[in-house]
Amino acid sequence: MLIDTHCHVDQFSDPETLVAKCEAANVKVVAVTNLPSHYEIALPHLSNSKHVYPAMGFHPLSVTNNSGELRIFEKYASEAKFIGEIGLDFFKAGLPTRQQQEEIFDSLLSVLRKFPGFLTLHSRGAEREVLEGLKLHRIGKACFHWYSGGIRELEEILSEGYFISINPSMLGTQKGKKILDIVPLKLLLAESEAAQNSVCKFV
Ligand SMILES: [Zn+2]
Repeated sequence: MLIDTHCHVDQFSDPETLVAKCEAANVKVVAVTNLPSHYEIALPHLSNSKHVYPAMGFHPLSVTNNSGELRIFEKYASEAKFIGEIGLDFFKAGLPTRQQQEEIFDSLLSVLRKFPGFLTLHSRGAEREVLEGLKLHRIGKACFHWYSGGIRELEEILSEGYFISINPSMLGTQKGKKILDIVPLKLLLAESEAAQNSVCKFV
């Protein structure tokens, strides 16, 4: 059985066709979103899907002008089984919004405290801060998607029992291969990080 733990299904030009293909091929997919309102839009499209699971996200690079989305996140948090992608990004494009990202991430983790489902995380340039947030809010099961941080931080993440998901782009780099060598199989997941657009195409 194949599980893609991080795919932007809603950012495909024709998400309905992709969902039908996943169903036919028996491929399980965590369909991440970048905003809670996108999750809300995706929900009815995926309600009958056996293999494509909607995940409620609030991407760290989408925080600007979207603080009103927190209300939608709170509305669905107790019933969502999958969350993502959420997290922090302090690498170049994310630096100007660092403080806003941290405020929103903390709010999201407060809402998710002891969340029992599956959480996929963005942590570029902010691996330690994301890890500290998870520990503070006692999030037990979470996955660092496309991990690109240091080895020491990686070892701390693994020692806390959090997962790492690997995608094809990572396997083309020395760093990605080194990460693959370090992560024990029981904490290693697969992801595509696939998308065809940068906007939600469910209507
Ligand atoms: Zn993503």
